[in-house]
Amino acid sequence: MSQAILPDLSDLLTGNDQHDVPVEILQQVIARCVTPLNETETLPLKQTLGRVLAQDVISPINVPSYDNSAMDGYAFIATDLLNKSTKLNVVGKAYAGHPYLNEVRSGECVRIMTGAAIPRGCDTVIAQELVSDATDTHISIAPSTVDAGDNRRLAGEDLRLGSVALRKGKRLSPADIGLLASLGIANIAVIRRPRVAFFSTGDELRSIGQALDEGCVYDSNRYTLHSMLVRAQCEPIDMGVVKDNPASLEKTLREACAQADVIITTGGVSAGDADYTRQMMARLGEVLFCKIAMRPGRPMAFGKIQCDGRTALLFGLPGNPVAVMATFYFLARDAIYELMGTKPHTQNLLKVASTHAIRKKPGRTEYQRAILSTDTSGTQHVTLTGAQGSGILSSMSEANCMVVLDHNQSDVAAGELVSVLAFDGFI
Ligand code: AMP
Ligand code: MG
Repeated sequence: MSQAILPDLSDLLTGNDQHDVPVEILQQVIARCVTPLNETETLPLKQTLGRVLAQDVISPINVPSYDNSAMDGYAFIATDLLNKSTKLNVVGKAYAGHPYLNEVRSGECVRIMTGAAIPRGCDTVIAQELVSDATDTHISIAPSTVDAGDNRRLAGEDLRLGSVALRKGKRLSPADIGLLASLGIANIAVIRRPRVAFFSTGDELRSIGQALDEGCVYDSNRYTLHSMLVRAQCEPIDMGVVKDNPASLEKTLREACAQADVIITTGGVSAGDADYTRQMMARLGEVLFCKIAMRPGRPMAFGKIQCDGRTALLFGLPGNPVAVMATFYFLARDAIYELMGTKPHTQNLLKVASTHAIRKKPGRTEYQRAILSTDTSGTQHVTLTGAQGSGILSSMSEANCMVVLDHNQSDVAAGELVSVLAFDGFI
């Protein structure tokens, strides 16, 4: 058996067999076991959505690179403004991409469009609708319609030359990618995708395309996992369905370890199956078998396995389809983000009134599938989707949020505020 593959966890856990481990403790255990990847790849900007920046990006230019107008109007010199109406000669035009090249003097103004460079000499723009008596040759400005410096976007007011535009570890959003484009950057170094091998275990599982023999179910977990991994910017490696026997399981784990940073299995960690899985995994590495104080998602194995000098993180998730999703989102995904050197997903919990009473035993964290809706007065409510069995995927599909009932929470009364995690952007 390999020794000390995992770091010292004795301040968090007392042994390898854990009962009723709070979700937060297991999250800390997992975080401590992750070593971030440091391999990078350089990609064209359009291929970097959701990827993690491998280094700080220093702005090579000022953005905008010149002072320009925020309005369609007239550019002039603020010191020309008088207490009574100011009359100015229109001496030229400035369009975006077509600057007015002469110096503007006192008593003059330039017709200017949004984004056009402010002509030399000018410091202020008045919006065209605030000008009185405008002709092609003259405008008048009434007192107090404009202040010095109005409607002038300053060079570098968005990003200053030499400043940090984006920090290492940032997961690139559409705004980030636009910002990099505004700097003229074509290619960017990001952390490579974590390779995640996954397979389902169970003699009752059939793959799509096979006949559904009596007593069998189609394997849905590989499809859910594949989708969640793609969203998390991983490279998924589908290793198929593995029968419930130690030899097949060991062979597949070895193959997975040879090519992946993370291995995710589903099924085979509940009480009946855990014994042989545990013995076999103990030969390959160091794996904890936990009963998490969590619903859905009670049994789970977590650790590292080693094969031919390679080490991979192992998540042995439960078999039930909704438990797979809950343990992936609340335990495995953060580890994947940490591998990529980025912060785990922040969970923006809302506080919303539950339409019905909810039964809840203190001593475990519960994630209940629910529908968040807004009534005609604009008030939000949350209603559970009904059957919460951890095998019922339809109620997960129907849900648009989860009610998160924390470890110490007890029964919830109808109308009471509960914590809600909206799926949009989270899953
Ligand atoms: P297990 O954790 O292996 O005891 O499985 C718990 C339940 O989840 C059983 O009803 C299994 O049939 C079901 N299950 C396990 N794996 C899958 C899968 N890949 N797809 C759909 N259902 C599954
Ligand atoms: Mg099974």
